[in-house]
Amino acid sequence: MSNDTLDTSIRYIKGVGEAREKLMAKLGIFTLRDLVGYFPRAYEDRTAFAKIKDLQIGGAVCVCAMAASDPKLSHIRKGLDIVKVRVVDESGALEVTFFNQAYIKDAIKQGENYIFYGRITGSLIRPEMINPLFEADRDRGTVPLSHDQTHPTSVGETVPGLPRPAPGTITGRIMPIYSLTAKLSQKMISSAVRHGLDKCGEILPDVLSSDITKHYQLCKARYAFENIHFPEDFEALEIARRRLIFEELFVLAVAMRFMRGRRIEQAGKKITKPDFTKFYGELSFTPTGAQKRAIDEAAEDMSGAKPMNRLIQGDVGSGKTLVAAACAWSAWKSGFQAAFMAPTEILAKQHFNSLSKLLEPMGMRVGLLVGAMTAKQKREIGEKLSLGEIDLLIGTHALISESVHFYDLGLVITDEQHRFGVAQRSMLTEKGDSPHVLVMSATPIPRTLALIIYGDLDISTIDEMPPGRREIETHIVGETHRKRVYAFIEKLVKEGRQVYIICPMVEEEETHQPLAGETVPGIPTSDLLRSNQMNSQNGQTNPPLKSATEHHKHLSKEVFPNLQTKLVHGKMKPKEKDAAMNAFASGEADILVATTVVEVGVDVPNAALMIVENADRFGLSQLHQLRGRVGRGEHESHCILFNTGKTEVSRERLEIMKATGDGFKIAEKDLSMRGPGDFFGSRQHGLPELHIANFATDMLILNQAQNAAAETLKKDPKLEAHENRDLSEQIKRMFNENDL
Ligand code: ADP
Ligand code: MG
Repeated sequence: MSNDTLDTSIRYIKGVGEAREKLMAKLGIFTLRDLVGYFPRAYEDRTAFAKIKDLQIGGAVCVCAMAASDPKLSHIRKGLDIVKVRVVDESGALEVTFFNQAYIKDAIKQGENYIFYGRITGSLIRPEMINPLFEADRDRGTVPLSHDQTHPTSVGETVPGLPRPAPGTITGRIMPIYSLTAKLSQKMISSAVRHGLDKCGEILPDVLSSDITKHYQLCKARYAFENIHFPEDFEALEIARRRLIFEELFVLAVAMRFMRGRRIEQAGKKITKPDFTKFYGELSFTPTGAQKRAIDEAAEDMSGAKPMNRLIQGDVGSGKTLVAAACAWSAWKSGFQAAFMAPTEILAKQHFNSLSKLLEPMGMRVGLLVGAMTAKQKREIGEKLSLGEIDLLIGTHALISESVHFYDLGLVITDEQHRFGVAQRSMLTEKGDSPHVLVMSATPIPRTLALIIYGDLDISTIDEMPPGRREIETHIVGETHRKRVYAFIEKLVKEGRQVYIICPMVEEEETHQPLAGETVPGIPTSDLLRSNQMNSQNGQTNPPLKSATEHHKHLSKEVFPNLQTKLVHGKMKPKEKDAAMNAFASGEADILVATTVVEVGVDVPNAALMIVENADRFGLSQLHQLRGRVGRGEHESHCILFNTGKTEVSRERLEIMKATGDGFKIAEKDLSMRGPGDFFGSRQHGLPELHIANFATDMLILNQAQNAAAETLKKDPKLEAHENRDLSEQIKRMFNENDL
């Protein structure tokens, strides 16, 4: 069978047809490939068999027994029919009852053997099973699985003729449980998968070469796909899972490295490494060693023959912007333009302000392009840009709009990269002829993860803070402290300081809605949802979440009528947002009530207090980002976290914030406590979705997959070898589907 067969529509699979094809499309299943790759979300263990005399109340088991009589149907009242049948094995008798399944009267026959699967109720003397699943023993096709069946020891080949439950069997086995959509049942999916697997035959493509499967002791693709859906037993399931997780991470790792390899083949713009002493001389401060090192590494890259592809990773406030400025300056020195893309308008403008102040005295022409500008303004910028009259263009993703043309783009910088997908980053690079790429991220990501997420980048880490940074004192408080907190605000403002107050929501009515489009992707969203679930599981009612709009109204009218209070959130018009931000930045406003729009990059050195309402609803890394908004000037700074979580865990999480100011440590804790799904949220990191692997729990396999990927590409850099044919096809498909 060729790969094409895998791309055939599921419509042609037995039992699917047009109606179910549409339903399955909702689950993202279109082709045979999708179908066999639609892994169960859980399993139900129906392997346990018991004799009737050994039944335990409450347990779910299979019982093999004979119907001692014909079933009796009683019509109790309208809407309530009961079928009862007494079944026996050599050890005892069991009462089986079905509610409202009158047809069973004819489905079970006296003297025949059946297997019943269900939970045992009643008493030990009179055990009962209510609404069990059942099937005739003779229909099962094979004997119940015995547990001493030997496994394929050299994990790999399926042992031919290994007895496995016949298709459609529902007892005596581990049942896959799939995520469903309305009108699709477990049975429909599992039977389609069964037919799908049969159709694939023995020649499912295998992206892992036999060297790899041997070295890492992985089973073959066929065995893995078979057992992930229809496991023979739990050991087989584990073997299958490990192989598929490895495969997924391996393909991802190869793809990321491959992408980097492609870029490396192109020639980069030659940017001569300048003498930075002059540049440093213009600064009002001395750059840290870590900043100098990062600048040096980047300059080294840019002077080489290949385009730079570098990530500058550094905690909030470590001074990444300076690295960007130095790189733009050196591009300009060699006659190239640079582009600097930031995730929000606020941030773009702030960069524009600080960088034009720094760079224009040196002779550079700095421009700004954001969505909120008038068409005329945009046109003017566009003209200057294409004539080469702007040396550094700073903006939002407006920079990647089609009408933007550079004269000679030599360097592309993206700030806070986790907000952009890999695709957006590459759209910007396409504005030039293989320009150098510098990516800056303040989300500290554990090294192993950085490797896979930024697998196509070199990494510089700024691991040193500018001198004079004060420790930000962090307090965790409850509602009872509110008055004291307000008094503290009053005191600070009297001393001339400014205060941020962050709320988890924009408006009242969104109580259970995540923050719309203005968050570190995924983090607060899933965190909010998760903690809602957490609370409801504990049977506790959620405390109301503070909305920025309401809270602002309350504070400005009732609590601080004499102070200047401004509001900013992502749903405001850009102009209003700017006005509020500017009022705060200029010191005109004392208090800024906001959502997480202020979380990234915003720099107001006079702000000395960060208050976070419902802090338990935020991700730790996000709290860390928020906290980083204060302590940027010479003033002693504080961060107050209102904890409204009722659980030990939520308190424990916040305690981490108190214990450390190290963003990397916080990120690691965050990851281990919340799991990567929450950490990364939706696909904003620009990676394809993972189906089975999990970045946090599968770390060991991740490392192995990374090594295997490196090894594979070392041996076969272009993936042309025969044994890598399936792999190279898969990667091509990935690039196509995900726009990498
Ligand atoms: P981030 O890494 O969070 O983007 P920024 O580049 O915004 O940090 O820098 C934070 C603040 O620190 C800015 O006000 C910047 O001017 C200042 N800064 C950067 N580098 C230094 C330094 N070496 N010494 C003193 N202040 C610095
Ligand atoms: Mg920054």
